[in-house]
Amino acid sequence: MSRNAESTAFRSALEVIRAVEPRVADAIGAELTDQRESLKLIASENYASPATLLAMGNWFSDKYAEGTVGRRFYAGCQNVDTVEALAAEHARELFGAAHAYVQPHSGIDANLVAFWAVLADRVESPALKKAQVRQVNDLTEADWFALRRELGNQRMLGMSLDAGGHLTHGFRPNISGKMFDQRSYGTDPATGLIDYDRVAEAAREFKPLILVGGYSAYPRKVNFRILREIADSVGATFMVDMAHFAGLVAGKVFTGDFDPVPHAHIVTTTTHKSLRGPRGGMVLCQPELADQVDRGCPMVLGGPLPHVMAAKAVALAEARRPDFADYAQRIVDNSRALAEGLLRRGAKLVTGGTDNHLVLIDVSGYGLTGRQAEQALLDSGIVTNRNSVPQDPNGAWYTSGIRIGTPALTTRGLGTAEMDQTAELMHTVLTATTAGANADGTPSKAKYALDPALADKIARQATDLLAPFPLYPAIDLA
Ligand SMILES: *Cc1c(COP(=O)(O)O)cnc(C)c1O
Repeated sequence: MSRNAESTAFRSALEVIRAVEPRVADAIGAELTDQRESLKLIASENYASPATLLAMGNWFSDKYAEGTVGRRFYAGCQNVDTVEALAAEHARELFGAAHAYVQPHSGIDANLVAFWAVLADRVESPALKKAQVRQVNDLTEADWFALRRELGNQRMLGMSLDAGGHLTHGFRPNISGKMFDQRSYGTDPATGLIDYDRVAEAAREFKPLILVGGYSAYPRKVNFRILREIADSVGATFMVDMAHFAGLVAGKVFTGDFDPVPHAHIVTTTTHKSLRGPRGGMVLCQPELADQVDRGCPMVLGGPLPHVMAAKAVALAEARRPDFADYAQRIVDNSRALAEGLLRRGAKLVTGGTDNHLVLIDVSGYGLTGRQAEQALLDSGIVTNRNSVPQDPNGAWYTSGIRIGTPALTTRGLGTAEMDQTAELMHTVLTATTAGANADGTPSKAKYALDPALADKIARQATDLLAPFPLYPAIDLA
């Protein structure tokens, strides 16, 4: 395929859009410019391939396809069947999973599908059985009441938010925190690492229905074999949410005890983070949970998104190619180089380093909150996000941490030498930034001061660093 084809495809698409609403075409163009110019260190973001992006922009979006492959509640789904079956097959082969459900619209949706599947499998509930029938509308108010009561005392044990767990692992702002009685396991205050003996102890005391492994901000490997043994010892279903690190599993960087798929009863993921696919979710499971998982739509999902399933099939096919394993290894090499570069310059890192795609900087070492650091870095052309650190004194809004990750920059082709330079840029900004004060003289958690000339200089250096690694090099919209 000629590189020119990509350029022509996106240019033509924008021309068609521009004829209807030019401001949308402009925004799409501006987004490409912004993405090209920023040093993107957001650990949960990536750049999907042109083929993946193009698979989403078409008439598959017009189709309703509730149900599963070959068993649809709408006529004319033969082509949706083709792409859904392909995406599921690629997922099973890539991860060595018995079953794959590729309909979830996002990671949160995938988790909701998994929770309901486990509940349906494990909890004797006539109301729940009724909720599983195709027409959820048939449920009466009394059925829903019975359901809530019957499910109300189910327990979930997951990683605490400030240790790096995710909202969907039983925390209040998410429905998982309302469906389940939740308790969490944290990390050892001295090392920042998961203490498996403490997890086992919490499991023995709490007797969860579901033990959840997986994280959004833990910079280390997790031993899923040990977590499975803990789950088995208390009769819990073991679920792993690999939303962040699915690319490292796909690329065989995480194998053996660190590959969740052979150890968990059920695994959920996003497809757009390190896996580098379209924005979406997926559930992998052992055969005995497959029927329940396949009821995700209409139980908790609306009609599937056939255009996104087509893009999942494309991205998963890409992830099965040998060069994806090389990509996954480079993500981790880069992450390590970034961590070492920061440590060498005196930064404080949670757990003292990384084994995966992300690094968590404790910016209290620079006398800043996460919010101040995030903004000062952004002023300097470096895109990160603030994140709690374990036992964070500044809470979830201001925080004391900056989470950074390498999947996106690795896709662009940056290597370990550029990671060291990135560490230098970050350290320079964080050292030069000072915390501000409120009007009454008390320390502010949001205000900060950074010399604008320095911020501009760093932003130019960040652009220079990116210049040899163009994003979407074949696409020219001019
Ligand atoms: C990102 C993430 C999710 C949510 O994914 P969305 O697609 O944003 O819904 C769920 N779980 C974990 C662990 C995540 O990191």
